[in-house]
Amino acid sequence: MYELACPACNSSSQYDVSDYLLMCPLCSATFSLERETGHKEVYNDHFIVANSSNPVQVKALVLEWLRRLNHRQDSVDSEFFISDISGLSAPFWVVSIEAHTVWKGLVQRQHRRQIEAKFGSDYLIEQGQFKRNYRWAVSGRHNICESWGMTRLHEPKEPVSVGWDGFPLDSTFSRGQLQDAKSEKAAYESREFFDFKFSNGLAILGVQVSEEEAMRRAKLHVEQYHLELAKLNVDYLTDFRTEIEIAGIQLIHLPFWYASYVYKPQTMLRHFYKPKEKKLILEGYNSGVLIGQLPIHQADKIGVNATICAIATVVFLVFGLVLHKAFLLVALFSLVIAGISAYLNISAKQDSDAVASAANRQIDEADLAKVV
Ligand SMILES: [Zn+2]
Repeated sequence: MYELACPACNSSSQYDVSDYLLMCPLCSATFSLERETGHKEVYNDHFIVANSSNPVQVKALVLEWLRRLNHRQDSVDSEFFISDISGLSAPFWVVSIEAHTVWKGLVQRQHRRQIEAKFGSDYLIEQGQFKRNYRWAVSGRHNICESWGMTRLHEPKEPVSVGWDGFPLDSTFSRGQLQDAKSEKAAYESREFFDFKFSNGLAILGVQVSEEEAMRRAKLHVEQYHLELAKLNVDYLTDFRTEIEIAGIQLIHLPFWYASYVYKPQTMLRHFYKPKEKKLILEGYNSGVLIGQLPIHQADKIGVNATICAIATVVFLVFGLVLHKAFLLVALFSLVIAGISAYLNISAKQDSDAVASAANRQIDEADLAKVV
């Protein structure tokens, strides 16, 4: 930390000079510092989307989310415990992008003809193009993993697997809403010039990533996304080209809320299930649930299965030794099931986040159905 004078209000404060942009805690001016010459320059395209939520509201929304997930809604209050709620305002570079994609590939014919298929002519060549505009948000932090869930905020409507951390601002900050929108304006439209007061109590993270890097990252994300979209049209993609035009870039601090909860089942399950902390992210503009981990994943269920079978193995082994040899066979069977479950448990854990976001999408769709 170094003490510097703000170029806008001239008062001195402590700054982390390794950040790409610095923010004056007194007048909220944003500026860059050239470390060799000491030259400072005010940066004007810095905005913030005001945080409009608080821990009490977030807690109520998380319980509402859990109620919608559960078949036995009345059990939510007695079985779920909110263990932590915290928020932060994180910097994102928002890049206005127009992306034009041209693709070509092979599509399998509906009616196979045996003779032709032999020579590989069972496919038709097809080509097409599409154009899309985004306000693409790219993290202004070097370590996108420092806050849970920030790596997978994009949940496209199309069935593609997301391998990038950026996301389209408008569709992301309007999804997952469990209550009526607080404002008819999109989050982007209601942004204000950056001022610490709009965080409404949230910690504000510093800006580390430069504009140039953000633009490169945005281009890469959109290109990857469009590649996945193009693949949906064909069985084999043979050619693909995306031209990207950047119309502008702005820095926007976006509000997020984190909630952790613990599920302590009151049913028989409690003997076999070790309570774990699960997490949710909500956006702090309209309080939509962006990502949420389910109380029990497929992995947990298989884990419970493995435990029960392991116990059964021991019981039947004892029976086999004491009572009748036939029980040894049953013990062997239980052991195999327990082994398979344990193996699946390990491999299924890796997908658990994906499962959680799929469930989230289901909630969204259910809500949409209600509105219609
Ligand atoms: Zn200042």
